[in-house]
Amino acid sequence: MLKIKCVPVGTLWTNSYIVWDTGSSEGFMVDPGDEGKRLVHEVRKNGVTIKKIVLTHGHFDHLKDAAFVSAELKAPVLANKEDLPLIQHASEQAVFFGFPPITPPDIQAFLGQNSSLSAGPYTFVVLATPGHSPGSITLYNSAEGAAIVGDLLFLESIGRTDIAGGDYATLLTSIQKFILTLPDATKILSGHGEETTVGHERLYNPFLTGVYRDEA
Ligand SMILES: [Zn+2]
Repeated sequence: MLKIKCVPVGTLWTNSYIVWDTGSSEGFMVDPGDEGKRLVHEVRKNGVTIKKIVLTHGHFDHLKDAAFVSAELKAPVLANKEDLPLIQHASEQAVFFGFPPITPPDIQAFLGQNSSLSAGPYTFVVLATPGHSPGSITLYNSAEGAAIVGDLLFLESIGRTDIAGGDYATLLTSIQKFILTLPDATKILSGHGEETTVGHERLYNPFLTGVYRDEA
């Protein structure tokens, strides 16, 4: 069975995900943004072997504890190359937003469009979904109907595009091209807040239905 455990961490309630196959107990972690000790505890409590740590994008609140978790679990950190400059300057981002400086992780391998990630027999394809940042990615598993989207979109909202590399038109294009083309029942697992579905967002997300279409 595929398990996707959402662990909201830190004062910004970043959703970190622990994704694993219950058969082999192998999997990966997404966005260890804070509370690294708690995330490592969750992994060990469930007897999971984390093979990779994946960043959906390079904002500090999604990667603050990636270096710690990587060292503890002996797993490499992966991200899209396009966000490498953001990742390398994540400490400046943290300070800009009023948080203490951080030590960003070393990125040991890159992920891009059509890269894949596995949790035992379950494969997630990487979709390049820029807009919130240049290197934002979505992890999609079609068999289970689940998409881990980072800060691309949220329940009835979308990612902000006014910070570090954001672009509103690019974000809307990514959602139209890669998210709204998925089956309605697909679960959307966002970087903050509650989970939703493609069908719900198609009907009720005011940024997608046209209600806020003219806002930038
Ligand atoms: Zn972000």
